[in-house]
Amino acid sequence: MSIRLMALFLLLLFGSTSVLAGNGWSEVAYPLSGPPQVIGSYAAGCIAGAMALPLTGDGYQIMRASRNRYYGHPALIRLVERLGRQAAAQGSRLLIGDLGQPRGGPMPNGHRSHQSGLDADIWFLQQPRDQSLSRSDTEQIEMPSMIRAAEGALNDSRWSSRYRDALKRAAQAPEVERIFVNAIIKQALCDSETDRSWLNKVRPWWGHDAHFHIRLNCPADSGQCQPQKPFPPGDGCDADLARWVEEIRQAALSPKPYRKPEPPSADRLPTACSTVLNSPTASRR
Ligand SMILES: [Zn+2]
Repeated sequence: MSIRLMALFLLLLFGSTSVLAGNGWSEVAYPLSGPPQVIGSYAAGCIAGAMALPLTGDGYQIMRASRNRYYGHPALIRLVERLGRQAAAQGSRLLIGDLGQPRGGPMPNGHRSHQSGLDADIWFLQQPRDQSLSRSDTEQIEMPSMIRAAEGALNDSRWSSRYRDALKRAAQAPEVERIFVNAIIKQALCDSETDRSWLNKVRPWWGHDAHFHIRLNCPADSGQCQPQKPFPPGDGCDADLARWVEEIRQAALSPKPYRKPEPPSADRLPTACSTVLNSPTASRR
């Protein structure tokens, strides 16, 4: 029995002390009011007292606002606003993808994580600071990939040093725990950066070739927040990364039929999350 199968078996056997919710999480329209409190992990958790990121601010704009996934812990909201101001100082406007749902929890599509109000997606593509997009553009503009997967290389006709700068500023933010980018993008940075110290937090992953994914450390106010296993020290510019790039290249050369991933199940959330999901919102004025 493979380790993964064994883990699944144990999970089925012992994993039932949990909230057996269907997915009501995407239907809750508002955060639960009160002090911010992250409960559980990035891929099985929820949040009380989340804040909404205003749809537009200096140096940023939320994309796909119709999804109602622009909520997070106040530390995440402050960080996105700060990264926006830093981009604005450089004449740019960041395009912000999904944060979390009003009370976090699993999403019916699109992500396994982003459940605890500590994850945010930021597009590589940027707008000029003074050109905000129309609401319909924010719903429709495509998120362009920055790689030529079959060549295992960056798409230099799309990539910009501004995208690298935004990524670097995010990686240097102390509250950021890690950032996911496509392995090809990480490799390109390994090859081009003279100071590679900030690459430590930039972790290679699948996808993430059109956006990067910021993940915050557990905030001090959230005793029930479950941190992720730390990654090994060093810049990660190693043989593992090179192998990963080669795998992505091979996959692009011989594409297998795409299988839509199963929606993540909500049944392993901490029990406290059922209170977060089911508590009525205080009356809103
Ligand atoms: Zn993400």
